[in-house]
Amino acid sequence: MSPLASPALPGSCIKYLECSQTGERADAGTLQNLSPSGVPLLARYAEQQAAGTLRRNATVDRPASLWRYAEMLPPPGDAGPVTLDEGMTPLLAAPRLGARLGVRGLLVKDEGRNPLGSFKDRGMTVAVSMARALGARTLVIPTAGNAGGSAAAYAARAGLEVHVFMPADAEAANVAECRRAGAAPTLVDGYLNDCAKVAAERAREAGWFELSTFKEPYRVEGKKTLAYEVVEQLGGDIPDVILYPTGGGTGLVGMWKAFDELERLGWIGDERPRMICVQAEGCAPLVRAYLANADTATVWENPTTKVHGLRAPRVLADRLCLAAIRESHGTAVAVADSDMRAMQDLAGATEGLSVCPEGGACLAAIPELLARGDLDADERVAVFNTATALKYIP
Ligand SMILES: *Cc1c(COP(=O)(O)O)cnc(C)c1O
Repeated sequence: MSPLASPALPGSCIKYLECSQTGERADAGTLQNLSPSGVPLLARYAEQQAAGTLRRNATVDRPASLWRYAEMLPPPGDAGPVTLDEGMTPLLAAPRLGARLGVRGLLVKDEGRNPLGSFKDRGMTVAVSMARALGARTLVIPTAGNAGGSAAAYAARAGLEVHVFMPADAEAANVAECRRAGAAPTLVDGYLNDCAKVAAERAREAGWFELSTFKEPYRVEGKKTLAYEVVEQLGGDIPDVILYPTGGGTGLVGMWKAFDELERLGWIGDERPRMICVQAEGCAPLVRAYLANADTATVWENPTTKVHGLRAPRVLADRLCLAAIRESHGTAVAVADSDMRAMQDLAGATEGLSVCPEGGACLAAIPELLARGDLDADERVAVFNTATALKYIP
């Protein structure tokens, strides 16, 4: 809880959870993982009711955290959310960097400002709050790195135990932040999907609650607030294009879901940004599926990228990601690790920004998209810098 007394937030307007494939409903008041069909569950709300209090101009007096959108988030219970005041990160104009890349309206949503330095905090504040509220005692998470550090911190804040499974070559900063938060990670010889397999086995044996990407319904709810904030920060406008560094796709799916919610809340009309999925050349299952006109993505064997946030060989929410890209008339593009790193330096040199390689991937995609005609120099482009560069000391 924030040390400064903040006014009590309105209650949640959640109605139920829904299977993203069959529409079958599930109870939002009990712990849930995947739907009976084995696909992600998504939360549905009574927007008409929420719109009574959640007006775009009425949030200014609320806490500077993503919990300001309480009506459109699940109810964290009487104890309140498990929060470190995450979200409400700046949306910075980057004109000098934009000029170098060939776009006039470049915006950078700087997610490095979150409590643990990455946007994984958005998902974890909501998922851990709900896990606690619904009675989970021990949590487990497979992670490429940032989600583990974030889960460890929020579990500590909640007084819960968490078991973290991380690739042995994960960033040192992520291993250290887990240890610091009292959750020594188990290092797995393999990739994120291998960690997920081990974590799921252990969860089944020990009765731990799984926080894996899209295996529980609330990390995506935290991530969707990216779109709420961007619309609030642009005074009710939307960007023309969103460039999102995609691993498991929570932000991509979350924001696409959020724009529909924002329309029903009356914050925006039926305009939508084009959602552009950026992946690494050395692990691009969604780009491959998009180009093959497929509805699902197959596992990317032997990923070679060293950029951990983008090294997600298996995408559980593949259908949802591909639908967001296509319905928004977006596209998908893969970039080289070396170009991502060059963009970290360019963003630092032109704007003083602390950009992670994943954020650098979005910047690196811009010249390619301009050349292809998938982006216009006059469009307003929002890039998501998903973590601080400090987590990646070479
Ligand atoms: C996890 C992560 C991503 C990918 O996010 P998804 O929601 O899994 O697509 C991108 N950048 C960073 C820094 C991350 O930690």
